[in-house]
Amino acid sequence: MKITVLTLFPEMVKCFTSESILKRAQEKGILEVRVKNLSDWGRGKWKKVDDTPYGGGAGMVFRVDVVVGAIKELKHKNKKAKVILLTPQGEKYDQKRVQMLSQEEELILVCGHYEGFDERIRDYVDMEISIGDYVLTGGEIAAAVIVDSVARLLPGVLGKEESHQDDSFSEGLLEYPHYTRPEEYEGKKVPEVLRGGNHKEIAKWRKEKSEVRTNERRPDLT
Ligand code: SAM
Repeated sequence: MKITVLTLFPEMVKCFTSESILKRAQEKGILEVRVKNLSDWGRGKWKKVDDTPYGGGAGMVFRVDVVVGAIKELKHKNKKAKVILLTPQGEKYDQKRVQMLSQEEELILVCGHYEGFDERIRDYVDMEISIGDYVLTGGEIAAAVIVDSVARLLPGVLGKEESHQDDSFSEGLLEYPHYTRPEEYEGKKVPEVLRGGNHKEIAKWRKEKSEVRTNERRPDLT
């Protein structure tokens, strides 16, 4: 899968995507992350990408000609690439959307900054995504969230020991509790069933715990 991130601050994205599991996924050729500098499409000697808002007000707004120029050029090579605008006004991101995006061939993630985008840019994107009801300084962290969450669903990215099958949200439930050594800590013991080695019993216990935990913490999921 290919993911292109369009940003005014490439290093913010690169430092995140060049470590750990994402780095390995790229080395294995399962994922290709390209980070493109919006300034490359900027106007004039100073490669200006933004301007003051019509009607007045604080902050700078990304120009439609600059951002759409970049989108058109990036999409030219693959018409099937899905263009996603990162904005707190978009559809809220969840595991269902992660699964949906992981089926795509290519994503182009467009990061805003400052006051955001010229409204007309919205006509040139396939989707608008928000990673939550709060406002970040820029879309780079949101892009990193998408790259990370989508990459871990791509076949071969996670090793057996990091499998995502039982993860929270994958079956509409929160995951069951985990324990490791020591067997006892300040009087708190690892549940007997997990030490017994009966895989059927362990699976039953985990399923029950998963359901109880979901009902207690996130009844909205069921
Ligand atoms: N003025 C905009 C508004 O009120 O909707 C917020 C602009 S925000 C300071 C700058 C940029 O950060 C946005 O254009 C967007 O790309 C990104 N951003 C901020 N919060 C986000 C969120 N919750 N999800 C996705 N992107 C976000």
